[in-house]
Amino acid sequence: MDWSLPPDVTELLAALDEFIERELEPLQRANPELFDHRREFTRTDVERGGIPTVRWREMLAHARRLSIDAGFYKYPFPAELGGRDGSNLAMAIIREHLARRGPGLHAELSHEASVVANEPLVLVLHEYGTPEQREQYLQPLANGELAIAFALTEPGHGSDATWLESRARRDGGDWVLEGTKRYITGIDVAGAVLVFARTSGQQGKAQGITAFLVGVDTPGLEIPYYHWTFNMPSDHGEVTLNDVRVPDGAILGEVDRGLDCAQLFVHENRIRQAASSLGAAQFCIDHSIDYAKQRVIFGQPLADYQGIQWQLVELQTEAELVRNTIYKTAWEMDQQGGASTSAKVSVTDKVSMVNYRGNRLACDAADRAMQVHGGLGYTRQLPFEFIYRHHRRYRITEGSDELQLRRIAGRLFGFSGGGRPR
Ligand SMILES: Cc1cc2nc3c(=O)[nH]c(=O)nc-3n(C[C@H](O)[C@H](O)[C@H](O)COP(=O)(O)OP(=O)(O)OC[C@H]3O[C@@H](n4cnc5c(N)ncnc54)[C@H](O)[C@@H]3O)c2cc1C
Repeated sequence: MDWSLPPDVTELLAALDEFIERELEPLQRANPELFDHRREFTRTDVERGGIPTVRWREMLAHARRLSIDAGFYKYPFPAELGGRDGSNLAMAIIREHLARRGPGLHAELSHEASVVANEPLVLVLHEYGTPEQREQYLQPLANGELAIAFALTEPGHGSDATWLESRARRDGGDWVLEGTKRYITGIDVAGAVLVFARTSGQQGKAQGITAFLVGVDTPGLEIPYYHWTFNMPSDHGEVTLNDVRVPDGAILGEVDRGLDCAQLFVHENRIRQAASSLGAAQFCIDHSIDYAKQRVIFGQPLADYQGIQWQLVELQTEAELVRNTIYKTAWEMDQQGGASTSAKVSVTDKVSMVNYRGNRLACDAADRAMQVHGGLGYTRQLPFEFIYRHHRRYRITEGSDELQLRRIAGRLFGFSGGGRPR
């Protein structure tokens, strides 16, 4: 067993660091109020329902353009889309590395923008898209020219997505969609949204749910408001669908098998979330150790007290265990075929393990960093409260902690894949 990091990945990390320092950090220094303690105020357009300001969106788009031009952004995409077929292992290492640098344009927390694309829908469209869908949606998405939102959650159903109540019925050669979707991230700038609706079958069954690519300007699609969250600003919109008419060509994948697309999307996100959380946790631990060494309390460096050492030791131990399991799980995905749904589903329980442990770790480490830094840790001068607010979200989205436990239990007790709901 060889545990060393692949040399091409370590070289890429060095090149990324150089790019971030040369191109992105000067942008941050030139626009401090977008990145320091004032960030939520300059990024939030209160007059427009709390969505991100145009200035902030432009900054993110500019950073993305720079990383496309430098050849980093498309790294995880298939080669035929201009990418480099980045492996799951490489992506886990990269995500951890970027988050370990702390928040910034290279790995922006409030919109999950990243110098290396964080765009699982590219893989979903690549696997399931028709030639027409690939032309209309996939290439522009991969080029950063189009955003597509993902709409599975509803007011009445989140964890239990197979119980969703949105419906699509046949009318002539078209489909007509009805329903309400909730917390739809990025809908403020999306050109299209992937909507999941039941086309047949029974409540509680995955079979019978279909995925539709719907243009956001399709008549009947409305965004009545945005949800204001713990981690402002919010681009998580409520979306209502009233008699939204789309052609057959809007269906992504097979009719009645839309949750296959959702599976690929969440699996991709779950392991990446875990790796980002690990990196964020390590950032908090590293900075806490540095601070404890230089802060003198009762005449001694804070780091001399075992009460402080052991708290950070516990976190570092957990980080090391989570890191090794993330790498191993990502490696297993790569051995079994990389980006395909089947490869991801084969290690679904492991992905769930690293997801809930990684996300908890980030929250625990950010909370501990606030404590070690005392009053300063609680201020917005330091990024720990921001890290906490963002990573707290990961304990709910892409399947909550409890949903990850349920998925592991499904493997252990043999009820995964559509058994009786428990
Ligand atoms: C910031 C943010 C962004 C989001 N972005 C999107 C998006 O872009 N697209 C989208 O479709 N959705 C999005 N979501 C929705 C997210 O996926 C759901 O919130 C999540 O799936 C949980 O669903 P819920 O909120 O309905 O909670 P519920 O399903 O109602 O769950 C409530 C609680 O019960 C727990 N629970 C559920 N089942 C069990 C069980 N069997 N045993 C024990 N406990 C259980 C849950 O873990 C949770 O703690 C977003 C949410 C947030 C907060």
